[in-house]
Amino acid sequence: MIVAVASGKGGTGKTLIATNLFALLSKASYNVNLADCDAEEPNSLIFFKSTKESASEVRQMLPLFEPEACTYCGKCEEYCNYNAIFLLPEKRIFRLIEDLCHGCGACTYACKFDALKETEISLGEVGMYRVNSKSKLVEGRLRVGALTPVPVIKETIKASLDSEIVILDAPPGTSCPFIHTISKADYVLLVTEPTPFGLNDLKLSIQIVRQMEKPFSVIINRAGLGSDDVYKYLKKEKIKISMELQFDKEIAMIYSSGKLVIESRADIYQKFVKLSESIIHN
Ligand code: SF4
Ligand code: SF4
Repeated sequence: MIVAVASGKGGTGKTLIATNLFALLSKASYNVNLADCDAEEPNSLIFFKSTKESASEVRQMLPLFEPEACTYCGKCEEYCNYNAIFLLPEKRIFRLIEDLCHGCGACTYACKFDALKETEISLGEVGMYRVNSKSKLVEGRLRVGALTPVPVIKETIKASLDSEIVILDAPPGTSCPFIHTISKADYVLLVTEPTPFGLNDLKLSIQIVRQMEKPFSVIINRAGLGSDDVYKYLKKEKIKISMELQFDKEIAMIYSSGKLVIESRADIYQKFVKLSESIIHN
């Protein structure tokens, strides 16, 4: 079973939920892996004592321009769906905008003059960390300066699938990295907070999850803050709240010191037990 813990907005407590759920299930002797798919800023590892087992580099194809062979016909620019090629034929200017290139290979296919070869760049790394005999944490980490986390996320998820239960700590937002992560999930936990920003981004993520026809429920973190608009919205839309965590300075302190809340607070531990039961028996 693959469970994505996601949020339309950063800072709602997604990693708090993913790491504590993972810790609880791994201690309950499930075969469980946690994949940190927030490749631009992975931090799940902070919460666990682990041993690095291996790492693999994620590479992406990049076209390499050969100016002598180019006739400036414009076919490559026409084939590139990502506007990664800038061409000025009259000035004999060709520029590849590397940050926009998705390595799809359409331009090298289109070029009939052998003016585009293929090379590779490093996008990041997937690290495998052993947490205990039945559980591992797989961390996707984007190289500083690289702009496309999706290939790193894909490899991270692939490396985490050899387990009974897989928890995906999804990247925040509702763009490609979020969509790619939840597309692999059997169940989605959407984490929000009862603030206007939280509600706005929750509505966007619900729209996407519904379009993708994924079963989901909502976790409200920092309950007691803001207003009850989130609750009214969820009631109107008949959406299940699977857990609420009260706004509590002690939880924030435990989390910010890199510790698991379920290990210090029996009340929170019980909430996570109920949450895990509701997901597993969903
Ligand atoms: S398709 Fe090839 S020959 Fe034509 S502009 Fe692009 S690189 Fe040059
Ligand atoms: S590899 Fe794909 S995305 Fe990159 S420049 Fe060529 S056509 Fe555009």
